[in-house]
Amino acid sequence: MRSFAIIAISIVLIGSAKAAVPNATDTPSRTGQYPVWDQVPRTDDPQIVEWLKSVDLSQAPNIPLSKDGTCPKSFDPNICWWTCNGCTRPDDVVVCRKAKTWGLTYDDGPTNNLYFWSCSRYTKYLLEHLNKKALTATFFIVGSRAAESPLVVAEEARLGHQLAVHTWSHHALTSLTNEQIAAELLWTSKAIFDASGLYPAYFRPPYGDIDDRVRYVAKAVGMTPVIWTSGYDTEDWQIGSNPKYTEKSIITTFTSWIPKILALKTGFITLEHDLSGSSVITATKLLPIAIAKGIKPMSVAKCVNGTPYRKSLLVHTGNSTVPSIASSTSFPSATASVNSTQSSGGPTVIPISTPTANSATRNALASGSSIALVVLAVVSYSLL
Ligand SMILES: [Zn+2]
Repeated sequence: MRSFAIIAISIVLIGSAKAAVPNATDTPSRTGQYPVWDQVPRTDDPQIVEWLKSVDLSQAPNIPLSKDGTCPKSFDPNICWWTCNGCTRPDDVVVCRKAKTWGLTYDDGPTNNLYFWSCSRYTKYLLEHLNKKALTATFFIVGSRAAESPLVVAEEARLGHQLAVHTWSHHALTSLTNEQIAAELLWTSKAIFDASGLYPAYFRPPYGDIDDRVRYVAKAVGMTPVIWTSGYDTEDWQIGSNPKYTEKSIITTFTSWIPKILALKTGFITLEHDLSGSSVITATKLLPIAIAKGIKPMSVAKCVNGTPYRKSLLVHTGNSTVPSIASSTSFPSATASVNSTQSSGGPTVIPISTPTANSATRNALASGSSIALVVLAVVSYSLL
């Protein structure tokens, strides 16, 4: 009888752990049809054709497509290509406004792989750590991953993190056509909306690969680019594949940045990833090093005093202005509605169905029922 109760408790505990952590196949808030994961979306897809009817790409700069984002030996410096000549435009977000503020960003997730030692999943592990420390960050989400793990995206939103776009397939954007760039941004925005009810206003180009053509297309679909402060790439994604980078070496490098950071007149934005167990563990260890020196980690929207979301998938800003990054001092709660988290105005061009599932509620209910079962199991054990 006693062994039966122990088995019952074990089953309940396993059930509880499962309920608290969304898994990759649980996609209740997914609506409609998405492009093939991790491939550049087709531009003859009826949905993208429909979207592009509302986007004027005709005046895009005539800049040749790159080969996989590789910098050619010589190119016109006027195209302002960040990865090749470090050039930025005034609308690019590359620093935080105030000294000692840290724009905390995690790219390429959500990653739902199980992190064995913590019995959690990579992104979930990081979310739990940030929540314990009462910190919020910006998650630059790959659209394919949002479609794969929408409940993790919903959890990021529920915890007050900023959701932002990191393209559908993570290709170098300068290597894609104008229509492909638009499709990469719009499909990712839709997948994030389907999971969270929020349309992101910011995006980060994979590898920081952005030139004036990419900027033009992004602006045409209403998105503001965020890169990172030059010199503050942690290279955490290389742990495990390049022996030069280890958890220890990244912590040492980050520590060596502190005097430089404290001397900056602005804040700074780092590049980190919620891509592997090593990267999320390292991320949690960098935080106290900076916090001990009075540096305040926060989302990018917060550190630039910007508005993280907009009210529709396509916001017509024209190409003479960009969505404001200084129009609001508020940072919406994760449960805020789409309408209350809009950025610059503009007509709703493409109405899209609202999410059908509230994953936060689902998780709460799941956790609640698990707790009740644990209590029942313990009571029955004590009666033995
Ligand atoms: Zn990336």
